[in-house]
Amino acid sequence: MSDIERTFVMVKPDAVKRRLIGEIISRLEKVGLRIVAMRMLQLTKAMADEHYAIHKDKPFFDGLVKFISSGPVVAMVVEGKDAVKRVRKLAGATKPMEAEVGTMRGDLAMEIGRNIVHAADSPENAKIEYSIYFKESDFVKNPMLDEDWVYE
Ligand code: UDP
Ligand code: MG
Repeated sequence: MSDIERTFVMVKPDAVKRRLIGEIISRLEKVGLRIVAMRMLQLTKAMADEHYAIHKDKPFFDGLVKFISSGPVVAMVVEGKDAVKRVRKLAGATKPMEAEVGTMRGDLAMEIGRNIVHAADSPENAKIEYSIYFKESDFVKNPMLDEDWVYE
């Protein structure tokens, strides 16, 4: 299927500390997305700078880098139909107050600076971001056995 794409998702340190890793992964899995690479790690300042490079001139950049490198995160590459848009829809608006009920941020977060999950905003940025954490040999190669029931 041609619209199958990869996106990059990160369970942020606040969500790891609040034991929401399973909740976040579960929401991704339940719609039919698949995890094709995953690791838990604590970002160095250099990795955090690179990860949020597109925001380097924003006033919130220093705080954001400090926060994202403040504790363990779970980085993953998620694959599926329109994965970039689908994951952002599941994550909800950046400001939890504006995120719809039913979304991760709408259901599980209070503040923009503690919004529990990162999701890439384009396939191009997804690749730039996941390349910080993964090499091609890290990706699973076997197809999921339920694919015929997820896609028509
Ligand atoms: N952020 C923040 N203050 C702001 C804007 C953004 O702390 O005024 C943080 C927030 O955690 C957000 C991240 O910076 O998730 C990246 O911002 P972006 O606009 O890319 O939002 P996202 O793509 O995460 O929804
Ligand atoms: Mg963003």
